[in-house]
Amino acid sequence: MVKNSFIAFARPSIGTEEKEAVLEVLDSGILTTGSKVREFETNFASYVGAKHAVALNSCTAAMHLALEAIGLKEGDEVVTTPYTFAATAEVVRYFNARPVFIDIDPATMNIDPQKIIDERGKSWHPEKAKAVLPVHFAGLPAEMDSIMEIAARDGLKVVEDAAHALPTKYKGRMIGSIGDFSCFSFYATKTITTGEGGMVTTDDDRAAERIRIMSLHGISRDAINRYTKDGRWKYEITAPGFKYNLTDIAAALGIVQLKRAEEMRLARARIARLYDEAFGGLEAIALPPGGGPDIVHSRHLYVIRLVSKKLSITRDLFIEELKALGIGTSVHFIPLHLHSYYRRQYGFEPEDFPNAYELYSDAVSLPIYPEMRDDEVARVVDGVVSLSKKFGK
Ligand SMILES: *Cc1c(COP(=O)(O)O)cnc(C)c1O
Repeated sequence: MVKNSFIAFARPSIGTEEKEAVLEVLDSGILTTGSKVREFETNFASYVGAKHAVALNSCTAAMHLALEAIGLKEGDEVVTTPYTFAATAEVVRYFNARPVFIDIDPATMNIDPQKIIDERGKSWHPEKAKAVLPVHFAGLPAEMDSIMEIAARDGLKVVEDAAHALPTKYKGRMIGSIGDFSCFSFYATKTITTGEGGMVTTDDDRAAERIRIMSLHGISRDAINRYTKDGRWKYEITAPGFKYNLTDIAAALGIVQLKRAEEMRLARARIARLYDEAFGGLEAIALPPGGGPDIVHSRHLYVIRLVSKKLSITRDLFIEELKALGIGTSVHFIPLHLHSYYRRQYGFEPEDFPNAYELYSDAVSLPIYPEMRDDEVARVVDGVVSLSKKFGK
């Protein structure tokens, strides 16, 4: 093994069981949505404690169809955070509805429930809003009790962007069993992966059925099968749906990855502890929030903050210095309100969401994944410690 090779920011953990599962599907002759998808859905629903799980080809599709199922329409509002990936707000724009950004709480990096309350009737309007769409940033659960309470007061649905939140627990309950809809991602860098893939969980029978139908061209076989005996080839298009189904190839991967979700979380949690210990005493580095005793943090991301007053180097240069040491990093996220589309559409300025803007300005995501070797973790530790001393002030 090359000691000083570049440490990738993320790397999937794919073992022989995953490879064999995929080969089995390839040999079976059924490549697209079939029994493996059904098995993955059943396992997933019971894992998170939801009545229904519908597998889709992305988390973006999951959020889109959850919003479709609640009947989001033009002019409606969805309360969400600017501190997220493109998908979270674009799905609201698909309906010509308005994503209303509420700033984060810097202590959690998640949407600030008090600010949602303060902005009621100002930036969002109870008569227009249809949903709250929190993101469990980095895998730390958002304040779900407050969010559910705020939503209930105005009859809003809670649709969670749970792309980082498998497995995550809030006050002992799995994310996937709390809000009206939870949307998970199995993108290549996420906590479990199917290459590309997603899942939506819900306890709502009608919504689950609607999502299932809309994920495949709005086609309902049940509608026909209910009335005729020759339902084998007949189908009925009940709505102009989408093409969002997951393949059995992907689901075969997902079934194995789901079984390993906790083992992989423990591996990340161990790395997070090593980072916490190593960086805890550094004035120039602020640790990410770890959650409380009744919280399970998935540790999808480990986002440190550079304390700019204590450093003579910018965040961007800090990243360049780490890269020169062979350490891959990333920045989660460039807040949505800084992007040209949202600036143009809504006239945002960076200071409109100061907490999101400040976090973005000094955030660095460090590598954290089960495949990281101990010598790689040690090199990241050494790199961050030595740079924070070299450029400390
Ligand atoms: C990755 C990610 C998504 C999108 O997931 P896909 O499966 O790629 O659609 C959505 N939200 C957040 C916060 C993400 O990190």
